[in-house]
This record gives sequence, structure tokens and C-alpha cells, in this order.
Amino acid sequence: MRAIIVGAGIAGLATALRLSHAGWETLVVERAAARRGGGYAVTFGGIGHDGAERLGVLRALRDRSFVTAELAYRRPDGRLRFTLSGEAIAATMDETSFTILRGDIESVLFEAVRDRTTVRFGTTVTAVDQVGRTVTVTLSDGSTEHADLLVGADGLHSAVRNLVFGPEQQYLRNLGHQVGVYMLPRRPQGLADGASGTISDGGRTFAINSVGNGRTTAFFGYRTDIPTAAVTGDPRVALPAVYRDMGWLVPEALVGLRTADSVYFDTISQAVLERWSTGNVVLVGDAAWCVSLFAGYGSSLAVGGADALGTALERHRGDIPGALAEWERALRPDVERKQRLGRWVKDVYAPRSRLMLELTQLPLRLASWPPVRSLIGRHLQG
Ligand SMILES: Cc1cc2nc3c(=O)[nH]c(=O)nc-3n(C[C@H](O)[C@H](O)[C@H](O)COP(=O)(O)OP(=O)(O)OC[C@H]3O[C@@H](n4cnc5c(N)ncnc54)[C@H](O)[C@@H]3O)c2cc1C
Repeated sequence: MRAIIVGAGIAGLATALRLSHAGWETLVVERAAARRGGGYAVTFGGIGHDGAERLGVLRALRDRSFVTAELAYRRPDGRLRFTLSGEAIAATMDETSFTILRGDIESVLFEAVRDRTTVRFGTTVTAVDQVGRTVTVTLSDGSTEHADLLVGADGLHSAVRNLVFGPEQQYLRNLGHQVGVYMLPRRPQGLADGASGTISDGGRTFAINSVGNGRTTAFFGYRTDIPTAAVTGDPRVALPAVYRDMGWLVPEALVGLRTADSVYFDTISQAVLERWSTGNVVLVGDAAWCVSLFAGYGSSLAVGGADALGTALERHRGDIPGALAEWERALRPDVERKQRLGRWVKDVYAPRSRLMLELTQLPLRLASWPPVRSLIGRHLQG
């Protein structure tokens, strides 16, 4: 059996790895000219943990994970509001969850699959045709490939989804926020090793995280209905405009923006489709079900979903549509639960008013008090 997988992100690489274990030949097509590194810190766990274990990459992922030693909530001028200790942060996670850079998940998967698949960088898909059980894919390098299965693992703005299911306007649910994330060239002096700091003010959030090995990520998330958010398009214009009055490490982080290698800048959206497959074409990861960073579970779902897809295809040998239907039935409830969580978080994520901010952060303040800590941990994991 042969699969063409579009996208060498977490979902695409995990799918290639799982299908190779099931005896499939795979070709991965990636638009970027080379592998992308860096990224932002994600919490990895749940079905991702179990999927990673079956894929044989859990140890390597854990080796790259890091522990946040302290999380400080600050006022816009940098004065401290309250601090969560490493212990309190750990209480919000169960023992199967850990924190890791998104790019490191990709690296681990790539190392595990590189000898088991072919990856064609700098290439995308331009046309898809399904006749009977064969999918014919035209690629941007002019070549034509045939396969038993086409997997669209090409993220929120999936080209496979556009070509096979229709334009993204039908499927993307904009959650009214914009996000900009990038790595800083060095850890600012004002941020201790292993520490994180957050400012939330007037519909805008800034977070800076020391993520191990001297690496630091800067994160900007803001409501698109605040007046300054009208500046869009180029993050190098938008972020300095929206955050111009914030102090503490914000100016230093904005200087880092000028030379950052790669900046993730997009709306925070969910993908909502009635079906994730049609015939022998299936979408996986953010292309199919993006739950958004508000739900904080996209990487875990990408790995767990890819693993489950391989299992279903193994069970239904020769009946790909049957396997895809069974896989989707099993996975959908988890995805829909996380999408509901994402929609709930959007309303409390970057409050515009001071009162709302105090109310939404009250549980975090309480989390620094040991008797409440375990209770909140159970609530956040539920
Ligand atoms: C700021 C932020 C914080 C997050 N926090 C968490 C968290 O705490 N926990 C968690 O589990 N998840 C988190 N996520 C979500 C998580 O990163 C994603 O859900 C996950 O990486 C999905 O991976 P994917 O492979 O489906 O898509 P992507 O990572 O978008 O990968 C898609 C790949 O396809 C390629 N591609 C795109 N278009 C084409 C094309 N036309 N042709 C060929 N290739 C193409 C891209 O270059 C990319 O390599 C967060 C996301 C963000 C933005």
C-alpha cells in the first residue's frame, strides 16, 4: 500500500511513521524548503502520550522536555502581581503530560521516520484526482504520483482541504484573536533560566518562556477587536504597534522580532468539518480539526490521531473508507470536547477589563495555595 502525505509537521511525520510500521510505503511532500525548527512551548500528553509510546518516540520526547521553574504574572510596567511556583505548575499536569518545544516534537519524529520514508521538500500539491481506489496527485515540481491514500497533514490552511473539500472559508472558525510567536536569539537578563513571565492587559497578552538550552520564546496574543489591532499583515509592523506601551521585557522581545528566523503569525482559528475524509483522501491534524492553541492539545491530537489512523488501516486491510470512518468515529468526541474548551477559553484568554482579568486569574492566584492546588489540578485536567 502506498500513501502520499502532504505536510511534514507533527501530524504528517507521525502518520508517515505509523504507516511505515504498518508496512506502507510513504512519500511526504513538504512546502517548506527545509525542516523548520524552533516554535513554541506546548503541553504534550493524553492520547499523544499513548500514541508516542506505541510509535517508539516517547523516551526521545521526554528527553527533550523541560520543566518551568516559575511563572510570574506581571503588570504592564513589569511589577510583579503574583507567582506560580514550579510545584504549583506541575499540579496542573498529570504524570503523562510534559512541556516541550513544538519544533522538538517535529525533530524527534523526523529522526524516527527519515530512513523509513521519502521526504520531498520545497514541493506542494496542485491537483488531486480520485478514480476508483487510486488517488492521483499532481505536484508543484510537475511530477504525478499515484497512491492508495492521500493524507492532508498540511495544517490550518491545508491545500489538500482546499482542493478536495472546498475553500477554507467554509471550514475555519475564527476565534477573534491573533497570535505571533518566535524564538529570541538569547535569554533576556531579566528572565531567570527556566522561568516564564506573562503580562495581560487591555485584550493583549505577552508571554516569555525560557525553554532550556538557552532558548527563549516570545509569545504575543491579542483580541482582534481592540483598537490597535487594526494593523494587520506583517508581524514586524503589527506587534510593535499593538504592544508599543507595554514595558518589562516587551521592548527587548520586539527588538528580537527584527532578526527572528521564522515568525508564526496567524489568526487563532479552529477547523470544523463534518467529515475528515472522502473516498481515499483523509485530513489529519490541524487540517482536519484544529482545536486552536486555546485548547492546548493540538500536538497531542496530531500524534494520537496519526497513531489511531494507522491502527484502523491495519484492522481494515483493503477497506480504506471503512477504516477512515471507524477512525473518525472513535476520535471525534475527544476533538469536539477540546474544540468546546477552545471556544470557552477565547472569552477569558485576554480580557479587556481589569475586573475580568482579576476574576479569570483568581484560580491561578489560588493555585499557589497548597490545599487548593490539587483541586485545581483535577479541574484543569478534566
Ligand atoms: C502558539 C501555539 C501554542 C500551542 N500550544 C499547544 C499546546 O500547548 N499543546 C498542544 O498539544 N498543541 C499546541 N499547539 C498546537 C500545535 O502546535 C498544533 O496543533 C500541531 O502542531 C498541529 O500540527 P500539524 O502537523 O497538524 O500542522 P502544522 O504544524 O501546521 O504542520 C503543517 C505542515 O504542512 C506544511 N504545509 C502547509 N501547507 C502546505 C502545502 N500546501 N503543501 C505542502 N506542505 C504544506 C507546513 O509547512 C508544515 O510543515 C499550539 C499552537 C500554537 C500556534
